[in-house]
Amino acid sequence: MDVDAGHGAALGRAPSTAPAEITLSQRLRSFLSFQGNDDDPVTTLTRTHRGIHPSADAAVLRRGYAIAESMHRGQMRKSGDPYITHPLAVAQICAELGMDTTTLVAALLHDTVEDTSYTLEALHGDFGPEVTHLVDGVTKFDKAFYGKAAEAETIRKMIVAAGKDVRVLIIKLADRLHNMRTLGARSPASRARIATATLDVLVPLCDRLGIQALKRDLDDVVLYHLEPDAYARIEEHVRNRPGWGEYLADVTAKARAAMRRSKVDAEVTPRPRHFYSIWKDTVAGGHKVPFDLPRIAVIVDGPDTDCYAALGAIHGQWRPVAGRFKDFIASPKNNLYRSLHTTVVGPDGRLVEVLIRTDAMHRCAEYGVATNYRYPRKSSDAGEAPGSDQLTWLKRVLDWEQDTTDSTQFLASLRCDLSEAQIQVFAHGHTFELPAGSTPVDLAYELSPDKGDQCLAATINGRLAPLSSQLRDGDVVEIFTENDGHVEVEPTAPRGPRREWLGFVKSSQAQMQINRYFAEDNEPGISIADKVKLGRATIGLTLRKHDRGLASEVPLRRLADDLGYPDLETMLVAVVERNLDPDVVVEQLIALVDHPD
Ligand code: MN
Repeated sequence: MDVDAGHGAALGRAPSTAPAEITLSQRLRSFLSFQGNDDDPVTTLTRTHRGIHPSADAAVLRRGYAIAESMHRGQMRKSGDPYITHPLAVAQICAELGMDTTTLVAALLHDTVEDTSYTLEALHGDFGPEVTHLVDGVTKFDKAFYGKAAEAETIRKMIVAAGKDVRVLIIKLADRLHNMRTLGARSPASRARIATATLDVLVPLCDRLGIQALKRDLDDVVLYHLEPDAYARIEEHVRNRPGWGEYLADVTAKARAAMRRSKVDAEVTPRPRHFYSIWKDTVAGGHKVPFDLPRIAVIVDGPDTDCYAALGAIHGQWRPVAGRFKDFIASPKNNLYRSLHTTVVGPDGRLVEVLIRTDAMHRCAEYGVATNYRYPRKSSDAGEAPGSDQLTWLKRVLDWEQDTTDSTQFLASLRCDLSEAQIQVFAHGHTFELPAGSTPVDLAYELSPDKGDQCLAATINGRLAPLSSQLRDGDVVEIFTENDGHVEVEPTAPRGPRREWLGFVKSSQAQMQINRYFAEDNEPGISIADKVKLGRATIGLTLRKHDRGLASEVPLRRLADDLGYPDLETMLVAVVERNLDPDVVVEQLIALVDHPD
């Protein structure tokens, strides 16, 4: 069992150092600079990669580095370091995650096409279609598009690319991690802005993809920039915990003995919390000093049921704290995290947290969708590939991405879908997970678009309730539609979705379906304002066919002017009334943006 491979070893730092033992100056140095101690800068990368994938091709890594280095030569980062240190560090983060050679080559070259004279065609000739496809996916949105929506559009583009190949997203996350670690050269305001944007979408995305090994590092670097004082306090606390090491060693030894007595084959190790997690508990509990309980992990070598045997052994050794036991094996988290959590009264009456999981659960908890790259499956392995459910989620995001015309709305929906607060409700014999604050209408659309459109009434825990009621965790809900027959509805009651629903639905699925209903079915009698909206959406959709988006209305207004319309709104109405071909608008728009003169 290689429980310690990458376990607790923060990415981008020396893998042999446990985060808790890192001193402040070491940590700062690893944040602020690239650590390469060999003469050949690719050696560390190759060594890390070969450590996980012994038969990997190192020559292609060297070739990728050589081209990236020569293309970026002369370019500097804001810190004053040569630019090549950045792609090399990004590749190193991917290597420590256990990604494949193709990902590492793409990581080395990820900024060449955008920032140097190297073209996608040249890349294709040198490294083939796979690397090209990854680099293209990571390449940022056209620089011609600017402003607030540019970030939204970048993320949209990235997720579309990740749906085809999740490695795109992993390179992007590693890219952001390294950029965040090297923000030191920027103003506090711009550091806070970038850190907030990361916390907003990329961290939840990383969480949903189940890559805890990467999320921990993103969390900590976000905290470092957003709450520097709190970070320093926790740093000080972690550095100076008298007797902590001895106490954990004692607990670990006793837990191991308990496992042996119960004949459970398991490895027990101390499992320090990362800084962000300490900070979150400190703030949540309103504590004055950092709140941090000693924690151990029990990784059992056996079937899932052995976890419960290990739990019995722990609870037999130390009294459990009531209300602190959680069974994420029977009810996995929405990112498929599985483990048992408990808190016990350990030696000297001190509270100790215990995580219990199998080796397979541990791998998935650490690497999520990246698990299959780190531990390639043999053809003899049975069952579903770990991480495939996270991919299902990504595919679902892509489905509604197709229906969303503007990237800001897409991002808002994505954020809602990613929000950590989720509730579970029971309906029609199944369990459904919905964003917190969801209503029976959200549930109806989750059941099917038709159920949503035809939804008339609902009961919550057996009682008739308004469609706008907020559901709570554990509610049993039943949805009634016209076709159910046995529900009494006044003949005058309105049929079909109502606009008011948009005011209370929470899930992206429901929002999208209701919007679509009104866009398609209610065209007669449509107001000018709606036509303008629809026109804008049509242009957005057509742009997207060309893999473009619009971050500002300026070019659109200029085009309306060029085409002789009194204003933009009139042009948009012309598109809806089919007096103006949206393809023509978009062609001219792209020409206008790409060649402003
Ligand atoms: Mn980059």
